[in-house]
Amino acid sequence: TPWRATVLTLFPEMFPGPLGVSLAGRALASGLWALEVCDIRDSATDKHRSVDDTPAGGGPGMVLRADVLAAAIDAADAGETRPRLVMSPRGRPLTQAKVAELAAGPGPLIVCGRFEGIDQRVIDARGLEEVSIGDYVLSGGEIAALALLDACVRLLPGVMGKQGSALEESFSDGLLEYPQYTRPQLFEDRPIPEILTSGDHAKVAAWRRAEAEKLTRARRPDLFATRPQPNRQKPPKST
Ligand code: SAM
Repeated sequence: TPWRATVLTLFPEMFPGPLGVSLAGRALASGLWALEVCDIRDSATDKHRSVDDTPAGGGPGMVLRADVLAAAIDAADAGETRPRLVMSPRGRPLTQAKVAELAAGPGPLIVCGRFEGIDQRVIDARGLEEVSIGDYVLSGGEIAALALLDACVRLLPGVMGKQGSALEESFSDGLLEYPQYTRPQLFEDRPIPEILTSGDHAKVAAWRRAEAEKLTRARRPDLFATRPQPNRQKPPKST
């Protein structure tokens, strides 16, 4: 069975959306991964099919009901063990390491929040892991879920053409990526750095490593400080 994601949303028409085109879309069409989209509203029980209600304790907006969402999760996930995520600005920020972990698993169930958020009790009772895609607030979890899925799908076996490209890009070695160039050789008086056209692969690799370190130190000192160190020979034990 291929990697399969299940998305619970009030706006199923937002899927596959951008995941239906290009790399992810071709992989979806050829069965390298599968996407199941469930309308949370199908689990509503009252005659108005309501999914939300006013916040306990007062305040603006509406909150997704725990009973409705729990029923939707149970219907989608009967007897399955897989990561259960809920997109949330309060969640742990998504990282490439987390993306790689999810891509290596069976595929997650993802709950997309709306309104002011969802009743805490369903997060606790169904063991939902809160995941954020950044320190800003979207109007719903759908775009966040699309971003997470896009990042996962491109890592699945057979999805990316060239095997190496996933290994070399930003974050895979704890550094931001070195600058890239292509033809023409001269663009508005700016040449491609000479070393890249020298044909000396070792020099090119060293230049890229140095540029990546320079860029990361300047832009993301937080990443630079915690980057994994390349393997070094241990010094011989002194007795
Ligand atoms: N009142 C909530 C708060 O302050 O944390 C914000 C709710 S937001 C308007 C509605 C939904 O969008 C959230 O339940 C979540 O699913 C999604 N969302 C918004 N920003 C997000 C982010 N940065 N990462 C992931 N999901 C986000």
